[in-house]
Amino acid sequence: MIKSSAALAGLRRVVSSRPPPIQGERCEMCAEPIGAEHQHVVNLESRGLMCTCRACYLLFTDENAELRYRAVPDRYLSFADFTVDARQYDELEIPVGLAFLFRNSVLGRVVAFYPGPAGATESELPLAAWSRIVAANPQLDQLRPDVEALLIRSDQRGGAYSCHLVPIDTCYELVGRLRLLWRGFDGGSEVRQAMEEFFAAVEARSKPAPRPPS
Ligand SMILES: [Zn+2]
Ligand SMILES: [Zn+2]
Repeated sequence: MIKSSAALAGLRRVVSSRPPPIQGERCEMCAEPIGAEHQHVVNLESRGLMCTCRACYLLFTDENAELRYRAVPDRYLSFADFTVDARQYDELEIPVGLAFLFRNSVLGRVVAFYPGPAGATESELPLAAWSRIVAANPQLDQLRPDVEALLIRSDQRGGAYSCHLVPIDTCYELVGRLRLLWRGFDGGSEVRQAMEEFFAAVEARSKPAPRPPS
């Protein structure tokens, strides 16, 4: 499902995907050795991810601090009541059936990116269309800026869309992995398999999102 429209293309710019973090190396803040399983902080200005040791990670967990770095939380949520249909998704002007949406606090707006052969393609969301979706799904409002993303994916069977909240480093890792596997026009079978594994892992880790106070 690829739409080609010059107007849409103008809104988009291809950004190089962040390279997958080097595993089993050193903390990029203090140079302590760290294991393959480690945490990340986001540089809010460059939006790059840094691999950190636990001590450095904990310096940046305060969401209200006026800091340049922010720790990526380890939170996965599913939204069972999420309702977006094909028409509403089309209004977001995302040309593929899978996207990550996050709030960029420096730009002060919600941005979408999606995987492709060149890495992540980024697109600015039509704000009115996104606001209507959040109004109909107020539980999405718990998304933390810069460090978490909403993974929206078309349900192949129905025409409906599912939504999960995931750590943003997970999204960049997926984009980096898919870029290496990408073949041809639609990515090919290895890309499809990697995506299925990714969604199964996200589903397994997700807890039901708390309902907003009504
Ligand atoms: Zn450190
Ligand atoms: Zn890392």
